[in-house]
Amino acid sequence: MKVGVPKEIKTHEYRVGLTPGAVREYVAAGHSVLVENNAGVGIGATDDNYRKAGATIAASAREVFASSEMIVKVKEPQPSEWTQLRENQILFTYLHLAPDPEQAKGLIKSSCTAIAYETVTDAHGGLPLLAPMSEVAGRLAIEAAGAALKRYAGGRGLLIGGVPGVPPARIVVIGGGVVGTHAARMAAGLGAEVTILDRSIPKLRELDELFEGRIRTRFSTIDSVEEEVFAADVVIGAVLVPGASAPKLVSRGMLSSMRKGSVIVDVAIDQGGCFETSRATTHADPTYEVDGVIHYCVANMPGAVPLTSSQALNNATLPFGLALANKGFAAVLENPHLRAGLNVYRGRLTYKAVAESLGLPF
Ligand code: NAD
Repeated sequence: MKVGVPKEIKTHEYRVGLTPGAVREYVAAGHSVLVENNAGVGIGATDDNYRKAGATIAASAREVFASSEMIVKVKEPQPSEWTQLRENQILFTYLHLAPDPEQAKGLIKSSCTAIAYETVTDAHGGLPLLAPMSEVAGRLAIEAAGAALKRYAGGRGLLIGGVPGVPPARIVVIGGGVVGTHAARMAAGLGAEVTILDRSIPKLRELDELFEGRIRTRFSTIDSVEEEVFAADVVIGAVLVPGASAPKLVSRGMLSSMRKGSVIVDVAIDQGGCFETSRATTHADPTYEVDGVIHYCVANMPGAVPLTSSQALNNATLPFGLALANKGFAAVLENPHLRAGLNVYRGRLTYKAVAESLGLPF
């Protein structure tokens, strides 16, 4: 199959649909890959790196869209991209269509076959193409907290791990899913005192076993959240209620009881955030202060580390992308997990929840 990789054009998006390593896999499987010039610049991959991996370099995105049977991207297509898609062309990327009627209509009009990373499933009921970004965000959350705790950044001037004779930071993670587990792993690795709160007892059991007593687990209630937040130096918001906005678990009143210079990192900000005082920020200006508490609420945290994020994303997308390249649309019919990723096909929405939330026919 002819596979195309345009350069990402969404503001501040530095990731790339296929890394040179992934291109090599496609080429080894007998496919041809056309990569727009400079597509890998954000991860330090040159056109030469892509050539060495077996790709052909295209002079423009237009050439990539015109010559490819499948387009592999990272972010949802922008208007100048979806107008170039056509019938029988496969688009494999994050789409997040539910809140984006304009894009949905554009994809419907194009008649392309659009497979959304975020709805592809795995045999354990997970979302394997979302998980790597949650892993990145969870680990980054502790780096962000460490930076914000520094005195010159407005923080308490506290070293996360402490030193012998001086206690470490108390880090509370609300939500023990993928983000929360990876945040806890980083925090515990740095020597912090870590507590994870979750509503799911099986999840708390799993975490208890995983960390072998190295962290505390607590069932999440209004009382327990309040107690933990009150005593914390850092609170990480990592809850998710599938298909819904994040519940506001930390009120402004609770926040005001926190020590001045403590830090909250609301990773769940992309679902509205779980602190009453959260509002989305950007990498250019990531923090602000409310009641003396530093807030970090960047909605696209993995974008800060495009090299790691692109590699993690490519590792996860590779088997699905190769199946699509090998078999075309038949791969979607054969594989229920890829089928779950199908959002638009021949001018119709094929994902019920997306159609319902957009009020469009399914
Ligand atoms: P996940 O489904 O793996 O985990 C969510 C956890 O929250 C689950 O264990 C669930 O039981 C728990 N939970 C639900 N309600 C709770 C409550 N009231 N109290 C405590 N725990 C509760 O989800 P995830 O992949 O870890 O993602 C978490 C959030 O991070 C999502 O909103 C996701 O979109 C977001 N995220 C943001 C970024 C970013 O750049 N900001 C990047 C990746 C993910």
